[in-house]
Amino acid sequence: MNVDSLLQPVLTTATEHAPTVDTDGRFPEEAVAALAASGLLGLTLPEPDGGLGASPEEFVHVTAELAGVCGSTAMVYLMHISGAMTVLAAPPPGMPDLTGDLATGRALATLAFSEPGSRSHFWAPISQAKRNGGQEARFTADKSWVTSAGHAQMYITSVLSADEPGTVDLYAIEADAPGVAVTGSFHGLGLRGNASAPMRFDMTVPDTLRLGASGSGLTLMTETVMPWFNLGNAAVSLGVARAALNAAVRHTSGATLQHLGQTLAELPTIRARLARMSLQLEAAHAYLRAAAASIAAPDEQTPLYVLGVKALANDTALTVTDDAMRVCGGAAFSQHLAIERFFRDARAGHVMAPTADVLYDFYGKAITGQPVFG
Ligand SMILES: Cc1cc2nc3c(=O)[nH]c(=O)nc-3n(C[C@H](O)[C@H](O)[C@H](O)COP(=O)(O)OP(=O)(O)OC[C@H]3O[C@@H](n4cnc5c(N)ncnc54)[C@H](O)[C@@H]3O)c2cc1C
Repeated sequence: MNVDSLLQPVLTTATEHAPTVDTDGRFPEEAVAALAASGLLGLTLPEPDGGLGASPEEFVHVTAELAGVCGSTAMVYLMHISGAMTVLAAPPPGMPDLTGDLATGRALATLAFSEPGSRSHFWAPISQAKRNGGQEARFTADKSWVTSAGHAQMYITSVLSADEPGTVDLYAIEADAPGVAVTGSFHGLGLRGNASAPMRFDMTVPDTLRLGASGSGLTLMTETVMPWFNLGNAAVSLGVARAALNAAVRHTSGATLQHLGQTLAELPTIRARLARMSLQLEAAHAYLRAAAASIAAPDEQTPLYVLGVKALANDTALTVTDDAMRVCGGAAFSQHLAIERFFRDARAGHVMAPTADVLYDFYGKAITGQPVFG
């Protein structure tokens, strides 16, 4: 399997549509259709399920490449893979074809975790499920941000368990199930096409749509969702930042100060700042590759990589895209360099849960021997 040959047509389509996805704040339907046609929606799912059986390293590569041309498409992709890997870890018995449908592009997945009541503390839903007879749970769950809202076919939705007080259950909810509604619209600073709108899930669901045993949602969140989401989110951040650096190098190498007979890149302050951006990016990329390798072959360092990779990449992207704006001066405000889009897209990573500041807190607890979730 050659991932790059599958990816190339998707990048071509995503590149073509990225400017209007951003300016119109519209869902990147062309690029998502190209992803489905390419087979890359099943990148990390097993081959027997129709997937490509690829590694976390290949996931990082594909996601970063997508982010470099269209941040919204990369975000939609990240949420699909995060949802799909969660389904793979604990397939709901009532949907025996779900993993195959997610692998082959028949269904696009996303995560509906964040709630207005617990904000970025995604591991703590407020919505309480209640038992509805023997084999069903009933809940009304308001979700504050759901990427691909109204476009995904599968919503992995968290609620407080009906059975085990204070624990979390995850359910696989189809878009056309009665009681699923998009309750608002998304107008963001960046990632403007990712359709992260609020949703309501007001429904009765059979136990057969639950992922894993009753009360196992938090374990799925920490052991499956967080490794894949944090890794992919880091790849989005660094993919956006690399695109900004490349654009800054191109612009400063070509733009001239005619009266001095030199390019912007020949100014010592500019080239030194480009060097610092490049080094910060290379260091964060090296850490990202190490994290992906560790998640592929877990050992005692893996939990630290899972906590560290997103925060490091998110903050690197903030710095690098900020510097890209600076070295390109007024030209960066113009849309033709796309740097202002990368700058805006990069601002989303650190506020996505687990937020970068929460991850620093967790990482700090881990290296000082304190309970991370205590
Ligand atoms: C583009 C985008 C797409 C998203 N897509 C999804 C999605 O598909 N599914 C989903 O479930 N959610 C999604 N979210 C929501 C996201 O994961 C967060 O829940 C949301 O961004 C949090 O915003 P808030 O205003 O509630 O943050 P708050 O929780 O109000 O945080 C405000 C500040 O407080 C800090 N803070 C909070 N708690 C702590 C703490 N314990 N220690 C230190 N600092 C802390 C935060 O780091 C942040 O700086 C998305 C968000 C964005 C921006």
